[in-house]
Amino acid sequence: MKPFSVIIAALFCGWVSCIAQTSDYKSVEVEAFSQTIADANVVCLDVRSAEEYATGHLADAINIDVRKPDFEPRAVTTLPKGQMVAIYCRSGKRSKMAADILVKKGYQIVELNSGIIGWTKAGKPTTTEAVDLFSTKKGTSIYIYSIKHGSVRMKIGDKWLYVDPVSNGVAPATDFTAMPKADYILVTHEHFDHLDSLAIRQLTKDETTLIVNPKSHEFLGGIGEAMKNGEKKNLSKIIKLNAVPAYNTTKEKLQFHPKGRDNGYVLTIEGFCIYVAGDTEETPDMKKMGNVDVAFLPCNLPYTMSVEQMVSAAKTIKPKVLFPYHYGETDVNQVVKSLEGSGVDVRIRPYK
Ligand code: ZN
Ligand code: ZN
Repeated sequence: MKPFSVIIAALFCGWVSCIAQTSDYKSVEVEAFSQTIADANVVCLDVRSAEEYATGHLADAINIDVRKPDFEPRAVTTLPKGQMVAIYCRSGKRSKMAADILVKKGYQIVELNSGIIGWTKAGKPTTTEAVDLFSTKKGTSIYIYSIKHGSVRMKIGDKWLYVDPVSNGVAPATDFTAMPKADYILVTHEHFDHLDSLAIRQLTKDETTLIVNPKSHEFLGGIGEAMKNGEKKNLSKIIKLNAVPAYNTTKEKLQFHPKGRDNGYVLTIEGFCIYVAGDTEETPDMKKMGNVDVAFLPCNLPYTMSVEQMVSAAKTIKPKVLFPYHYGETDVNQVVKSLEGSGVDVRIRPYK
């Protein structure tokens, strides 16, 4: 009799905990998931591997691999507290694993039962433009989107900021009419892979602030506002902008980007610091940058840095996250290997 009651009790407990677990998050099908992520306050999370994510993912989905041992700490530092998170994977298995973990951390979770397989079967779109999410200490979210090469877009709170948007000059052609209009556009310098008047026109609305280096200001016939190296400006109450020098330092390369002409930009948002370097090699100014949370450093020869130079610059700047960008045919996986154990989180995104 005793063993039997123990079995009943065990079965009952198992049943109760099973109910409790599944009722803690919502499993939904494609249409309901699609409606959930249409809300700008919901974070969409892809928990597949980086390789799977790179082949195509839902628009605006960030990627944290649930099978990596650092999933939990990475998710907790990335996802804003208390926020609703919509999770998917390939077929719906890993998203349930992730949901179990994140429910315990206090997030509201919706999970796509049929995964991205169900999503694409239903004829829903995917994209290869990578997205990364950060947030400031005061809780302002910053989404960073990799357009290509030197072109980056960011959503800071509800404001859209573009750096060096280029439409047809660099492959693949980008249709900026399909993207949100810009609140701010920053142009580092006048080279064709950074300054594109068509993209600027397509992104501009009445309230757009256009910041350029002085040479681009001339090229554009005086539109926008020129900032020189060292100048500072408040773009909004929370976004501070600093134009910093970007130039070549190697003797044979000085003509590409002469000192004093081009800008890199440092954005400080409620203390969160993003450095977009522009076309530059390692410069003495990089030693004085202070705390950098996210850095974009260029890595293509002969115009900017080699892998070795970038690794050296990264060790000087010590950003928490490094996006190698403007990398052309450079094998940037070498940057990941060289910076292993350095404390710099190197993220490879499609910035060829
Ligand atoms: Zn250039
Ligand atoms: Zn360039």
